[in-house]
Amino acid sequence: MAQLPSDNILLEVRGLKKHFPIRGGFLRRVVGQVKAVDGVDFYIKQGETLGLVGESGCGKSTTGRTILRLHEPTEGEVIFNDPKTGRVHIERLDAKELRRVRPNMQIIFQDPFSSLDPRMTVGRIVAEPLVINKIASGRELRRRVDELLTVVGLRSQHATRYPHAFSGGQRQRVGIARALALNPKLVICDEPVSALDVSVQAQVLNLLEDLQQQFDLTYLFVAHDLSVVKHISDRVAVMYVGQMVELAETRTLFATPKHPYTEALLAAIPKPDPRNRTRPLKLPGDVPSPANPPSGCYFHPRCPYAMDVCKVQRPPLRDLGNEHWVACHQAEHLQLRGVTRLADIPVISGSASSTNGSSDNATTGDSSTAATSADGGATTRSSERQN
Ligand code: SF4
Repeated sequence: MAQLPSDNILLEVRGLKKHFPIRGGFLRRVVGQVKAVDGVDFYIKQGETLGLVGESGCGKSTTGRTILRLHEPTEGEVIFNDPKTGRVHIERLDAKELRRVRPNMQIIFQDPFSSLDPRMTVGRIVAEPLVINKIASGRELRRRVDELLTVVGLRSQHATRYPHAFSGGQRQRVGIARALALNPKLVICDEPVSALDVSVQAQVLNLLEDLQQQFDLTYLFVAHDLSVVKHISDRVAVMYVGQMVELAETRTLFATPKHPYTEALLAAIPKPDPRNRTRPLKLPGDVPSPANPPSGCYFHPRCPYAMDVCKVQRPPLRDLGNEHWVACHQAEHLQLRGVTRLADIPVISGSASSTNGSSDNATTGDSSTAATSADGGATTRSSERQN
């Protein structure tokens, strides 16, 4: 990646690769590589939200996990601006150093059902990071757990219950409380709402926005849904088969996409207003396998604008100006169709949650929790952010 802006950069990722070996034969020899992440560059500024979108299997979740070293990177650099020690190369840290840096970088997992231990009470789940890092014990630990549960819209009484007693939205709130326990700077949100009912997605998104402001958090927000990303992100990065193909400020990317794949993704967003409906662009073929990607530009077998050079030369990610990065040989010449009015993109579940009274505290029957009171107004805030 070329010159970085001088602003506060919290995380910088350079040429990150994560390849998984394919083993075969009697001796289980390595016979190939799944290139899940194949040379990704980006940075995240302090306090911003970078949305990372793409189809299932494009490597967006693997990117987030590799940044945290839940997967060991195959190649590349992950540089984190540690508030205490300055710039730290995450990929070079040994286990002890990594433990010291980890509290600053946390993750909210996609599936709130499998990411919480069903044998532990919610109180123990939220307390676990504090206990492991020897940050609190006894009365102070209980006070901190109560505080964290309240902050995410639950109640201190919920600490004695088990995850099965909660709805999906509430379980995700528990996951968020656990991620916040160590006062992180960076939170990787790995599709935090995609496993939830549509009616509670906006509530959790708005909670994340509120927490970001309250605790000065920085998010890498992974999602496959552009309308989700539009509501929460300051900038958006699009991935295709393990590579970054476009990255720009949210409004710019939606209004003037410069990569044909982004154009296809935008055209596929359902528009509720029949006067503003656009015909989806039909891309031929399927997403190629990351174990055997095409030559040149990975998108060329499906791209309606492909030229001969696209079949042999991989386009680098380059800045077209105003921090609009694109990996396409023809980026300057193509006139691609975007979304002219961001308001045309539906607000996730906004009206649903406010009109039918559905909320993510239904299972425990607590109509007075902060979760409920936060929901109606928060839906409006979400729609205001980008419109
Ligand atoms: Fe299409 Fe060529 Fe651009 Fe790839 S480089 S997106 S094939 S025009």
